[in-house]
Amino acid sequence: MLSILVVEDESAIADTLIYALETEKFEVTHVSTAADGLEHFQSHDPDFAVLDIGLPDYTGLDLCRRIREVSNVPILFLTARDSEIDQILGLELGADDYVTKPFSPRAVVARIRAILRRGKPEEPKAPTALLHHATDTMSITCCGNLLDLTAHEYKLLATFLEKPGRVFTRDQLLEKAWDDPGSAMDRTIDAHIKSLRAKLRQHSEDAAETIQTRRGLGYALVL
Ligand code: CA
Repeated sequence: MLSILVVEDESAIADTLIYALETEKFEVTHVSTAADGLEHFQSHDPDFAVLDIGLPDYTGLDLCRRIREVSNVPILFLTARDSEIDQILGLELGADDYVTKPFSPRAVVARIRAILRRGKPEEPKAPTALLHHATDTMSITCCGNLLDLTAHEYKLLATFLEKPGRVFTRDQLLEKAWDDPGSAMDRTIDAHIKSLRAKLRQHSEDAAETIQTRRGLGYALVL
C-alpha cells in the first residue's frame, strides 16, 4: 500500500481528496499545517506528498524546499492562484506537478498515478524485432516471443539468420543443422521448414513469410 501525505488546511478540500485516495487504496495521512507536514515527513517517510501552497504557518513552497533537502519523494502541489503556479515553475523546487483549485479529486488521483508510474524505472523490454537470435542463450524470439524450437529447427533458423538473403540448398542445410547429414533426406528439410513456418506464424504472418522457397534451389530467409 502506498502512503500519501496530504497537507491542506481547508477541511472540505482535504476530505474529498482523502476520500478519493482511500477509495483507490492509498494510505492517507492528513495534516493542516506545514510544520505538521514536515514532522510527519521526517518520521514516516511517505511515498508521495500532496501540498497545498497557502498554509497557515508557512507556505507549501517552503515546505517543499525543506522536504527536498532530505528526499526525492514525488510532490504534487495544490494551487489556488495563477501567481502560485508561476512561483512553482520559477523556483524550480523539484515538484512533480500541480493542480489548480477547484479540482476534481478523481483527476488528482489520476495525476498521482501518472507521476508514480513515470518515476518507476523502466522494465527491460524483450527484443521486439521480427526475429532476434540471442546466441549466448541459443534462443530465438519472434516479435519478442520466445520460440519453442526443436534442436533441428533452431539450427536451421540460426543458419538462416546468420546470412539473411543467402540461398541455402537442402544439402547445405542438412550439413549445417544435422550431426549426421547422410542419414537424413531432402524431404526432412522440407518437413522442418514447414513446422518452423507454422511456429513463426503463431506470432507473426510476416515472420513466417521470411523463410522463402527458391524453387529448384533451396531456401532463403529474407528479412
Ligand atoms: Ca490553503
